[in-house]
Amino acid sequence: MAAGDLLADDSLPGWRGHLLRMGARRSVALITVVSLLLSVGTVLVNRWLGDPSRWATDLLVAILVPLIVAPLASSAGMRLLAEVEAARRALREVAIRDGLTGLFTRGYFLTRLDAEVRRAQRDASPLSVLLLDIDRFKAINDTCGHAIGDAVLQREAVALAGQLRPQDLAAHFGGEEFVALLPGVAGPDATAIADAIRRALDTPDPMLDALASGLHVTASIGIASLGPAPDAAEPLLRRADLAMYDAKRNGRNRCVTASTVGNVTPLRRGV
Ligand code: GH3
Ligand code: MG
Ligand code: MG
Repeated sequence: MAAGDLLADDSLPGWRGHLLRMGARRSVALITVVSLLLSVGTVLVNRWLGDPSRWATDLLVAILVPLIVAPLASSAGMRLLAEVEAARRALREVAIRDGLTGLFTRGYFLTRLDAEVRRAQRDASPLSVLLLDIDRFKAINDTCGHAIGDAVLQREAVALAGQLRPQDLAAHFGGEEFVALLPGVAGPDATAIADAIRRALDTPDPMLDALASGLHVTASIGIASLGPAPDAAEPLLRRADLAMYDAKRNGRNRCVTASTVGNVTPLRRGV
């Protein structure tokens, strides 16, 4: 199975998926009945073609053998199939989940972003992207250590995910940057959601205080939404990135909404 299939596919494809969805008992029963019909059918065809000798004995064997062998073999096969499916799901989780934060990975986010942009354009439905960067995170690492830095990232991931709907998708984009994909959400609503996330992060948190007394973390968020003109995933994300750097330049701990296609002045990184 290709790595791309792991990202895109949600259930075992083909007849194996059908058997798993039917459940072990029904699958074993189905396989047994099919084996029985094939076996008995072979004896009857044999007799019809002109070999009537011992056909009653043959028929008995043709009934008994599949009745005994098929359930045993197919239940072992179904157990194996269930194990393969469990291993496939575990592998998929590793491929699409970030080990540190539990959010989705950058790769999975980009795959979904591409698909959602195409779908939104086809259906003329809104779509927004948020790009969140923790403010002065290097100073947290430098003063509190990387272990506490990691705990901050985990806490921010929980706070971000807590503000999103089930149909949204949050990912750890890398370093101290997070992204969120908001299908069906237009510009003004995306700004409101981004500000709710920003305020949730800006709220004093006993867990952070327990890590390092007085530790307070804020974030800057760039927001970009699909406009009426044709757009693509990469420029949409780039507009969110540029808007996020605008937020940094304007004092951090704020949200900035990018204007639609082509109206954001490129900024240099490292403001
Ligand atoms: P700004 O407000 O401009 O975003 O400043 P910043 O300090 O957050 O940005 P900068 O890019 O200077 O520093 C980001 C830091 O994030 C540097 C790096 O050590 C740290 N970092 C990146 N990935 C991880 C990680 O997985 N764990 C921890 N603890 N730190 C990380
Ligand atoms: Mg950064
Ligand atoms: Mg930062």
